[in-house]
Amino acid sequence: MRAAFYQGSRTFTIGEAPLPAPGPAEALLRVRRVGICGTDLHIFQGHLDHRVPKGGVIGHETFAEVVEAPAASGFGPGDRVVFEPLSFCGACRACLMGASYLCYALKIIGVELPGGMREYCTVPAARLLKVPATLADDEAAMIEPLAVATHDVARAQVRPDDRVLVFGGGPIGALIALVARHRGARVAVVEVNPFRIDLLEAYGLETVGPDIDVLRFTNDWTGGTGVDVAFEVTGNPAAARLVTDVVRVWGTISIVAIHAEPIPMNLYQMFARELVMHGSRLYAREDWEEAIRLAASGAVEVAPLVSTTIRLEELQRGMEQALAGGPVMKVLVDLTT
Ligand SMILES: [Zn+2]
Ligand SMILES: [Zn+2]
Repeated sequence: MRAAFYQGSRTFTIGEAPLPAPGPAEALLRVRRVGICGTDLHIFQGHLDHRVPKGGVIGHETFAEVVEAPAASGFGPGDRVVFEPLSFCGACRACLMGASYLCYALKIIGVELPGGMREYCTVPAARLLKVPATLADDEAAMIEPLAVATHDVARAQVRPDDRVLVFGGGPIGALIALVARHRGARVAVVEVNPFRIDLLEAYGLETVGPDIDVLRFTNDWTGGTGVDVAFEVTGNPAAARLVTDVVRVWGTISIVAIHAEPIPMNLYQMFARELVMHGSRLYAREDWEEAIRLAASGAVEVAPLVSTTIRLEELQRGMEQALAGGPVMKVLVDLTT
């Protein structure tokens, strides 16, 4: 079978690999789509070289079809599936607390463990979820990032009529905005990329473009009091510096982006307004179930976010394109061509 191998220093090679053999509790899947996400771009740039083995197979946003599965798993040949790309111990403090997605020994399928950028992969059957027939292949590949968004919005306890400001209108920021709006919140997205601004506005979302002062916008929008919830989804130090200034008394800040380096923040406002700040990472199984419900019902329309579908052989170029930040939202790899 064909597979893409990460070779370090911004290089992927395409080659042949033997068909993986499923273990006793595992399913063998034929991969149909894999999304390229921000984490993959960090891998591409070498930021996660301490976690991704050289020659490793990345891809954690996988949509696939079951080839074979254990009889008792409830899954069978031909089932359309997505999976939680998580391997956890089940016994550590986090796992016992119900936060197995933050297991102290967590391994991510597509980071530490071989992922979906290959024609076939094996996954523990317990991590599989069925995809309704109404969702097209490209839409099904968006369930993973949508599960990130349902997790983030639930964790931030967004309520009806809340004012929500999202810093960063890439795929995750856009999905957070759409899920928050579905919850009844009024949402605005801070974004600089004109292609993404157009796409967000086509969804009917309010945007705060590069020519607008974010603080002034927020004050006008909230009568000077600040938003109920702000999500930091850019990873940009300037956004992190600003985020504590735009939130109301007792408001909530959710840090969704990966900030690989320590950066200055205005903690005076944390104190002065008694703000709550939390991190938000990955997802629990119920976040996946909610994502599938929202996508399948059309409550969150994911198809418009897919800008390009490429072949596995084009992965190198797709990565470079996504990194260049041009007119692109989500890039999917189609493993069926
Ligand atoms: Zn991802
Ligand atoms: Zn654990």
